[in-house]
Amino acid sequence: MLGVWGRAPSLGQPKAKRYMTHFLDIHTTPQPDLHKIISNARMMKDARNGMSKGTLDEDQPLAGQMVALIFEKPSTRTRVSFDVGVRQMGGQTLVLSGADMQLGHGETIADTARVLSRYVDLIMIRTFEEQTLLDMAEHASVPVINGLTNRTHPCQIMADVLTFTDRGIYCPAGDFYIDPWKPVDRALITHGHSDHARSGMGRYLATTGTAPVMQHRLGEIALETVEYAQTQKIGDALVSFHPAGHVPGSAQIRVEVKGEVWVVSGDYKTVADGLSEPFEPVKCHAFITECTFGLPIFKWTPQDILTGQINDWWVTNAAAGRTSILGAYALGKAQRLLTTVNPDIGPILTHGAIENTNVVLRNQGVTLPDTTLVTQDITNKTHPGALVLATPSALGTTWARRFGPASTAFASGWMALRGVRRRRAADRGFVVSDHADWEGLNSAIEATQATKIFATHGYTDVFQRWLSGRGYDAHIVSTDYQGEGFDQTEEDAT
Ligand SMILES: [Zn+2]
Ligand SMILES: [Zn+2]
Repeated sequence: MLGVWGRAPSLGQPKAKRYMTHFLDIHTTPQPDLHKIISNARMMKDARNGMSKGTLDEDQPLAGQMVALIFEKPSTRTRVSFDVGVRQMGGQTLVLSGADMQLGHGETIADTARVLSRYVDLIMIRTFEEQTLLDMAEHASVPVINGLTNRTHPCQIMADVLTFTDRGIYCPAGDFYIDPWKPVDRALITHGHSDHARSGMGRYLATTGTAPVMQHRLGEIALETVEYAQTQKIGDALVSFHPAGHVPGSAQIRVEVKGEVWVVSGDYKTVADGLSEPFEPVKCHAFITECTFGLPIFKWTPQDILTGQINDWWVTNAAAGRTSILGAYALGKAQRLLTTVNPDIGPILTHGAIENTNVVLRNQGVTLPDTTLVTQDITNKTHPGALVLATPSALGTTWARRFGPASTAFASGWMALRGVRRRRAADRGFVVSDHADWEGLNSAIEATQATKIFATHGYTDVFQRWLSGRGYDAHIVSTDYQGEGFDQTEEDAT
């Protein structure tokens, strides 16, 4: 464990002697250090394979070191694991309980820290107040490990299946991230939308159905692919991808460590859209769910009724000499609408961003009706009565005005809110989304049989309270994922 971190503490140590820095919180520990902790732990564990508990590690990294274990708050598990661990690494322990010492505040802690630093080489403290830990770390001239405070428990987090960092959802056992929003070495990607599949990762793992759109959007990347339900071992974690029903190729990611199963939903919907691989519930202990539309007012129009509404709208417009301009996101929504409309009504024209995605999907074997890319010379004169599929950002622009008299519609879950439709200046709103509606979220969560739920993006506050009220161990985690983007460009939209 020693030698993992290179920086010397600021107080009183000769510079040449290399000490690790404190381990107080995973959010303040640099990413390379977290990686090293995990990979060293794994190596040390492997090296002990088959050895009896009292046998010392071959390399005895703590030989000659005295470690103080302070328990202001008692814990059998932490006490035994630290005590045995330190001894196996060749070190010695000094266990101090709350009764043995008066930690108090301010000067008392500073004093204890200074005194202990003279006698021991490392301090682990399990306490109540975060401030006690911080005071200890500030005044100790030896490294301090946080063994639990009322606010944080980083040693436990490192042993969790998944944990939430400022870079993304992290799996310590496998040393990988899921849908990270900052550059990391290894990223597992749920689907190709830009808030989930970002550039700058060392290497990527995604389903074969997601790979083409990622390559289209991110260019040259180190990308490995996997089929649905195919299990692979990454470090000490078993990982598999399962259909999320969100867009073609989209996946929930199942991570199993020592029999405990956590599932990251990414974005999902529970109703089949005729285009994406249908959502499959995955049994788990903990489920990390989006809740973009986590309010009871969100209820989607059933697919068959929606199809009728869109076709009727198009027929009526065509008969009245109007072009039908339909706004939809470039990946997923647009293609889903394409497969549902009746191409016999008239020509179907597409905006460039949508047509690019159509090409990617057709190349991977997805069947879509014929479409014509809108170019300079295409207008309502060349294609009367057309249905134009446009990205949200193209609605109401000069690009849209070439089609003469037109009816503009928008297809989004947000169309359930009247005010939003007015702001969008759409004549018509179709209430449809590639995210789960209220009922979809609830049925999906129930189907997982999970008792622990983490809500990522959307109406997290309301949803967390709702789930807690129903007996779930529910939490909110802050991420950088977007909901169904409304005022964003098609590249930002999810
Ligand atoms: Zn999203
Ligand atoms: Zn998405």
